[in-house]
Amino acid sequence: MPSMMKDSFGRKVTGLRIALTPRCNLNCIYCHHEGEANPRGEISDEMVVSVARAAAHLGVRSLKFTGGEPLLRPGLAKLISRMPQELDLSLTTNGIFLAKLAEPLAQAGLDRVNVSLDSLRPEIYREITGCWEGDMEKVLAGIDAAQAAGLEPIKLNVVVLKENEAEIGNLIDFSRDRGLILQLIQLMDLHRSGISGDIDAIERDLASRADRVRTREMHRRKKYFLDGAEVEVVRPMDNTEFCANCTRLRVTSDGKIKPCLLRSDNLVEIGTCDCEKIIELLQEANSRREPYFGKERLPALRSAMMADCPRH
Ligand code: SAM
Repeated sequence: MPSMMKDSFGRKVTGLRIALTPRCNLNCIYCHHEGEANPRGEISDEMVVSVARAAAHLGVRSLKFTGGEPLLRPGLAKLISRMPQELDLSLTTNGIFLAKLAEPLAQAGLDRVNVSLDSLRPEIYREITGCWEGDMEKVLAGIDAAQAAGLEPIKLNVVVLKENEAEIGNLIDFSRDRGLILQLIQLMDLHRSGISGDIDAIERDLASRADRVRTREMHRRKKYFLDGAEVEVVRPMDNTEFCANCTRLRVTSDGKIKPCLLRSDNLVEIGTCDCEKIIELLQEANSRREPYFGKERLPALRSAMMADCPRH
């Protein structure tokens, strides 16, 4: 049985997020580019496979591919077919190329997908993503194809913006009707653009209407169940609880282990496909993990959480 890594704040690492390319076919107005600044080159298939094996050895259970746009990566199905069987494999995509790829990716061993779709109104979707006319229909066809291929549960990722906050009700209905989990994501407004929607008001409304609320272990994310819909709220900003319950490591598209989305001063260069060596590098990156928000408040928060929830 692999030994699970924990950092010096007692936080486990159970998930790994690998950016397969910095390239993207969209140009979303808010994109944080997974916290990558000037990536050089693209991580090789060999390195991705070795990192996945090393991570699985260290007790990582889920692996998510991201980008850029991961569906732009040539040979993606083949790469997925080489991943360790024990990992839960998912990817996050803008969905534009999903209609064609869903079935081969599922055949290769992909378990599920997150599809980013910030608006159901074509003109707003274009404004946010800079896409071409007709691309939104391709995303909808991609969701259908992912469902047909069994890539479920499908999460619909929506970053809450001024542009789409009036549409949240429609997005909830759409997700419920299509059997999707809606994931409302707080904007990480790294460039202080001021385009963030009012996620506090949205969450208050969800809380007042929910039949049931569940708190997930990862990031202590809240899930609201209402009228058959399932809505998860992701609030990374200024959120001590989010950081205290972060269970992730990341790998950048140019092959560096990244302990935190919001930092670039503590990366670990991989530079090898030797699995044994990568195990050590993952351990090194784990030793560099620390909560971005509320590091100093963490011990108090942890004892409060333990009092709240004795099984932790
Ligand atoms: N192209 C893929 C996609 O669209 O899902 C993968 C890359 S994208 C960076 C991954 C996720 O990060 C998307 O769901 C996107 O909405 C989210 N994201 C990007 N920039 C963000 C920001 N500034 N704040 C919050 N979420 C963001």
